[in-house]
Formats: sequence, C-alpha cells, structure tokens
Amino acid sequence: MIELRLGRMSPHETERLLAYDREHVWHPYAPMPAAYPAELVVSASGVRLTLADGSELIDGMASWWSAVHGYNHPKLNAAVTTQLGKMSHVMFGGLTHPTAIGLAERLVDLTPAPLTKVFFADSGSVAVEVAIKMALQYWRSQGRSGRHRLLTVRGGYHGDTFGDMAVCDPVNGMHHLFADVMPQHVFAPPPPLGYVAEADETYLDELRALAAAHADELAAIIVEPIVQGAGGMRFYAPEYLQALRDLADEHGLLLILDEIATGFGRTGELWGCDHAEVTPDIMCVGKAMTGGYMTMAATLCTDRVAEGISRGEAGVLMHGPTYMANPLAAAVASASIDLLLSRDWRDEVDTIEAVLTAGLEGARDLPGVADVRVLGAIGVVEAREPVDVPAVQKIAMDHGVWVRPFGKLIYTMPPYICTEDEVGHITDAIYAAAESL
Ligand SMILES: *Cc1c(COP(=O)(O)O)cnc(C)c1O
Repeated sequence: MIELRLGRMSPHETERLLAYDREHVWHPYAPMPAAYPAELVVSASGVRLTLADGSELIDGMASWWSAVHGYNHPKLNAAVTTQLGKMSHVMFGGLTHPTAIGLAERLVDLTPAPLTKVFFADSGSVAVEVAIKMALQYWRSQGRSGRHRLLTVRGGYHGDTFGDMAVCDPVNGMHHLFADVMPQHVFAPPPPLGYVAEADETYLDELRALAAAHADELAAIIVEPIVQGAGGMRFYAPEYLQALRDLADEHGLLLILDEIATGFGRTGELWGCDHAEVTPDIMCVGKAMTGGYMTMAATLCTDRVAEGISRGEAGVLMHGPTYMANPLAAAVASASIDLLLSRDWRDEVDTIEAVLTAGLEGARDLPGVADVRVLGAIGVVEAREPVDVPAVQKIAMDHGVWVRPFGKLIYTMPPYICTEDEVGHITDAIYAAAESL
C-alpha cells in the first residue's frame, strides 16, 4: 500500500514505487520497461509539483497545455466536489443533465458564431476522430462518398488513434510503421515558419494546386490553427489559415480546426483561428478545457454539418462514448471556463509572452541552438540536434523547473497564473539547458 505523509515519502518507498513503475507501468511514447525512471509526484498546488523527497518544481508544461489555472485550485476543487455530491456519472444515451447543458452553452457562446452543435468526447484524440467522422458522414449523407480523403499540412499533430495518426505528420507520426493499415490522406508541405512572416506565394500556389488536384475526393481540410503543437511546435502566419478557408470554400470542403492545444487563450487570442479571423465548420477543443483536472474534449460543428449528417441515410452521428459528457469533467470544465473569463487572461498571457521573449531570445546565439520562438504563453528553443532528454531535465530540475523536451525541442507552456518571477525561473532553466547543448 502507498503511504503518504504530508508531501514526503521515505526513500525506500519511493524506490519501491519507481521500480514497480518502471517494470510494469507504460508511459507515453516509452519502451517497456522504461529506458529511464520517471519522477515521482506526490502532490501539486498552484504552479508547483511536489516530488516524493519534498522538493518542488515549477511546472513549465502545465501538464501538456492543460493546467492553465494551476493545481489544487479552490474553485475547480469545489466544482468537482459539489458535482460529486449530486452525481458523478450517468449515461448520456437518452439521458441528459444540467452540467452538460451548461458546458455546451458556454462552448457555443465562446467559440466562433457558426459553431452551434456540441459533441462531448472523452479525450482530444476522440474529439478529432469525431470531427473526421462528421466530415465523412456529411459527404456520405449528400451521396458523395467519393469525398473520403482529408487535406492537411505536414508537421501536424492530431492525436494517437488510427484515424488521427493518419493526419499527423508522416515522419514524426511514424506513418511508416502503419502505412498498410492507415487511410492515405493528402499532405501539403508544412506552412512556412513564422507568425509574422509574409505569405509565401509559391507555398500558396502549392496549396491551391494540391486542393484543386484532389478536390473531388476531399471531404475536408484539417489543421491546427497558427500553432502546430506536438508535431514540431511551429508557428505560422494567419494568411495561410485564411488561404485554407478560401480553398475550402472554393472547392466546397469542410474546414476542421483542431484547437485542442491552441484553445482557451494559449496563443494570445482565445482561439488560434481568431488570429486569422477565420471560422471553421468543425472545431475540436480539449486539453485546457477542464483546467487540467480530467479528461474531456468536445467537437463543435455548424448547423449545416449537423443537418447534413442527420438528413443522411444513417440519420445519426455514429459515435457515443460510455463516459460521454461525464458530469464531473463537465462541472470542472464549466468552472475552468468561468475562471478564465473572470480573470484578465489576455493580460496574463501577454505578460508571459514578454517574459518568455526576454528570457529565451538570448539563447538564439548559443552554438547548439537553431531557433528560438515565442507566441502567447508558448516558448520554444529548437536545438540543432535531438536533445538528451534526461540530461536536459536534470539541468531544469536543478533550476527547480519541470520541462519535457522532445526531439530537438525544449519548450514551455506555463500555467497562466505563473508570476513573472516564476516564468523567469522557467526561462533560466531552459537557457541553462540550451547552454549545455
Ligand atoms: C493533445 C492533442 C490532441 C490529442 O488529445 P488527447 O487528449 O491527448 O487525446 C489532439 N490534437 C492536438 C492539437 C493536441 O495538441
């Protein structure tokens, strides 16, 4: 049994748990047994994680984009416990509940106006599956089942299930492992790097040519707006997103925007698509939606998409997770959205952006660094070579900071509640790691 004294665990117990973890518990993108041991977190509060030995780390990752309000937040805790006293779960087939309806209202109000219908999914990956299914079913319903492929750009990340993997970057997403069992979609080159970069006409021509060549077999375009997250932490100019919307309109395609990482203010606008004043036909939200408390995501669509699907031969959207619209997750998501809107999130994100820029820009001149980029509350140092993950983590932890590099990327997306001082700790840690490359 695990015994927890306040914030501290005996070295013996720590070792036993970590040994068991390494031998038996699979971690993300890890071999089994693990290549190296994980860190043992026993509690978290505010922006800090407490490890078994009692030491604290500022969480530079916000638990992968999600814990925007920090941990153990009294309002979010209260939302969960209040809901727990009423009903922790109930099936969503034939039943509904005020908590789900309240969250749907918030999402419809907060997302771009044409999005009026909400499907609750149990993770981001499932939300993207549902978005793809919506697009395919839409065209099937119109008697156009030949429209069954998706157009996307390289460098994307949309989740780990098979439908999602097929639209992830073919190299990062390791398509070669599954090429024989994955649908084959249409890939444009990655959007040229740089939020403020002037639109590259050659690139736009490539996009136009690709869309035109495949128009009859395409159901939709799917991309992450402005920021490509786990596919490479790349920022691109709003003009390219506008161009994709124009192409979708020109060829009658649906535009699916995956806002799972970018949503809820992370990029400095509430939605990534707000940078381009573009609205999608289908949109996925997740990660920060529950403030990092529980797994829940949602797929929103327009009246046109919903009516198209519902008038078709199947007449229904063919999806329905067991834990759909889980009341605990929906309650904390509503509380998280209310909390976000009650604070000046835009000012918080702008401040983080300024501190990240000031703290990371100097790393550009380091010999091991290829690029430094910051947008909103996202800071990225791209190394010239793939980084030694445990070595970088050790340096960051010596600076009291948790980061999780991948490939050539050392990056941070701090909780919005980080003070300037705490963000400064994060940039010091990343700078020190970059210096060691
Ligand atoms: C994380 C992520 C997903 C997948 O979400 P999960 O909740 O991990 O399944 C999909 N799309 C984007 C853009 C993401 O960042």
